[in-house]
Amino acid sequence: MRTVEEHLAACLAAVSPLAPVETALLDAVDCVLAEDVVATSSLPAFDGSAMDGYALRAADVADASPEAPVSLPVVADLPAGVREVAPLAAGAAARIMTGAPVPPGASAVVAVEDTDGGVATVLVHRAVRDGQHVRRAGEDVRPGATLVPSGTRLTVRHVALLAAAGRERVKVLPKPRVAVLSTGSELVEPGRPAGFGQVVDANSTMLTAAALDAGARAVRVGIVDDDPQRLLRVLEGQLGQADLVITSGGVSAGAYDVVKEVLTRMGTVEFTRVAMQPGMPQGLGRITSSTGGSVPIFTLPGNPVSAYVSFEVFVRPALRKVMGESQLHRPTVVATATQGWASPPGKRQFTRAVVTSDDDGRPRVRPAGGPGSHLVAGMAGANALAVTGEDTTAVEPGDVVRCILLERGRP
Ligand code: AMP
Ligand code: MG
Repeated sequence: MRTVEEHLAACLAAVSPLAPVETALLDAVDCVLAEDVVATSSLPAFDGSAMDGYALRAADVADASPEAPVSLPVVADLPAGVREVAPLAAGAAARIMTGAPVPPGASAVVAVEDTDGGVATVLVHRAVRDGQHVRRAGEDVRPGATLVPSGTRLTVRHVALLAAAGRERVKVLPKPRVAVLSTGSELVEPGRPAGFGQVVDANSTMLTAAALDAGARAVRVGIVDDDPQRLLRVLEGQLGQADLVITSGGVSAGAYDVVKEVLTRMGTVEFTRVAMQPGMPQGLGRITSSTGGSVPIFTLPGNPVSAYVSFEVFVRPALRKVMGESQLHRPTVVATATQGWASPPGKRQFTRAVVTSDDDGRPRVRPAGGPGSHLVAGMAGANALAVTGEDTTAVEPGDVVRCILLERGRP
């Protein structure tokens, strides 16, 4: 039996980032940048006004006060977007709007609120220092500066900077296309009536949502029954369309565990048992088309809780590696148990749990629902996975437990 670490290492080794692509800025949000973006010009590009007011020489209004305003002739009117700006002579002022270039010779801008707002001449009520209300060229970005380094996951704020610096396109690591399918002859589509002995397919929706939440592009392929030929055909159909395939079900030791049967024969997928609960049976490898293309495949167990925990522990970090993320794992907290639960010896246990803060802000944890791997309602109420070690057989109230926080908000 493998340890969780051993299987995680195998999962991470099975994937690598896709080739970088050049993409429009809007499509680059949330992708990891695959180039250092360097500034080719200054930001701001010119000395500009930070206020609506009057550009002038600070020395000319050094003695201005509300009691003794200084009068200056207004020799120019400079709206934002003005393309030609004449030098300003001593003893004169130019009416100027926010964002307009400050004329050469002016050393400051006095805000319109500190004047009478005159058009031909202006009365200035207040002194200004040199440089006041002037945005200096290059004070934000200098040419040659690295705007955003390679490896950064681009946020809204990064694309704002890249747009301001004049970049229309950037090179990023593409988000992988993930194909998700559920296997099981008992499964029916959500929304369809489930007859006796049938089970509504929860996993393909859950795992597609989980892949999307991890930042990937994901497609819910749907249900394949336990028929080897059909499974092979559907998998073959995904080659060339998907960068990674996730299946659930059919990997245990049962007679109709068709995923295991079919992919074991192919010889490129390995089925192992991992010392964990839930999620012990796992399969990992590659599927190869007749034309030679191949993609990684993760075959997860069928019980919804097992499939979910397997995704969180193994697939999500692998997807994040594909996307070039430096932080592969979710944040954890150490929380004090308010309630005990049993833990199997020799296995790492991932318990659906609710983490809350007590009045002093200290994290508390309790299990969500019962331990069965089929209990989706209990799982829905969880916001964390409480992790207990292989040597632990019981968690007692008051014990501290490391908890993986599942809420959205990727680090
Ligand atoms: P398996 O791993 O195929 O042996 O399935 C284990 C259990 O999980 C069985 O009770 C299945 O009915 C159930 N199961 C498998 N796939 C799904 C699914 N997609 N949605 C809900 N339950 C499932
Ligand atoms: Mg099955």
